[in-house]
Amino acid sequence: MNLLYFLMLIQRNRGTAQCICAVGIIFIFLDIYKMEPLTPEKANYIIAHYMQLLNEPEKIALKQHRHSLKLSELPDGELRTKIYLRNQWLTDEPEILAQLDEGYVQFILNCAGRILKDYPDEVFFNYCAKCGKLARTPRAKQCRFCGYDWHE
Ligand SMILES: [Zn+2]
Repeated sequence: MNLLYFLMLIQRNRGTAQCICAVGIIFIFLDIYKMEPLTPEKANYIIAHYMQLLNEPEKIALKQHRHSLKLSELPDGELRTKIYLRNQWLTDEPEILAQLDEGYVQFILNCAGRILKDYPDEVFFNYCAKCGKLARTPRAKQCRFCGYDWHE
């Protein structure tokens, strides 16, 4: 809407303009209200689909977590650990390992929080229009909870 036209509208119809402003303010509050805290589910979604937004130390820590999980399921742990370290599938850098000190869930919450702060416009939360839950991927067109489908 053209600004001049908008000002004219306000001039002509103050009551309606005040009404529009009030509705606008309510919507802003609703928007703030919608910003619920980061959940492990949302953090997982960000890590899975926006991996490129992780910084280098985070990527190494993630690799560390995944490989040490795999390692724990295999025999010959000691020998394999040496090989994994040599191939940089694992790390012994204390600063990287410290990221995982409070567990994997806290780690992904920290990464996701940092990503949302640094790249607020890059992450698209694909919420279902019907039930409001988060879809499996940013490009999903069907809700995994209620089955709602938004393919065109
Ligand atoms: Zn749904």
